[in-house]
Amino acid sequence: MPVEPNDAEARMPYQLPFPKEALSEIVIPDAVPKDDRLWVPQAKNVWFRPLCLNRSEGYWMNLLKVRKSGVLSRHRHPQAVHGWVLKGRWHYLEHDWMAEEGGYVYEPPGETHTLVVPEGVEEMITYFQVNGVMLYVDPYGKTMGFEDVFTKIDMCRKHYEAVGLGGDFVDQYIR
Ligand code: FE
Repeated sequence: MPVEPNDAEARMPYQLPFPKEALSEIVIPDAVPKDDRLWVPQAKNVWFRPLCLNRSEGYWMNLLKVRKSGVLSRHRHPQAVHGWVLKGRWHYLEHDWMAEEGGYVYEPPGETHTLVVPEGVEEMITYFQVNGVMLYVDPYGKTMGFEDVFTKIDMCRKHYEAVGLGGDFVDQYIR
């Protein structure tokens, strides 16, 4: 059994400095932003909102927003994806389940899928952690293009420059 610390010690903050090489934390009060300019356009009726663009580990955390029902590009994931549906619902052409508001999805490495927002959903927002790379593929797996944390950073920089926030605005999300 661990020794029970007295109350004063239990409430004492950690007393030592953090490792000097450690990166700074990211705290975003308006993860679903009030300012629509923070949504970076990705395709017609599709946007993403960066939260953590982790170039040092090669993944990105973002909100994906889709307005209007429709199909998103077919792609392969060589690494795992985690998703949490904040609003609306969606499914993949390749699976028979529906990701519902409030639900969590794990997508294992090796997945190739095509996201569909069904009729009747006005807006879908999902929090995704995407690791490594997304390979856009044809129906037989031929690679047509890709996205990774660096293409995401580039898209953010260009968009934030264009909407008047300045290209450097993206820097707060990069680690
Ligand atoms: Fe995916």
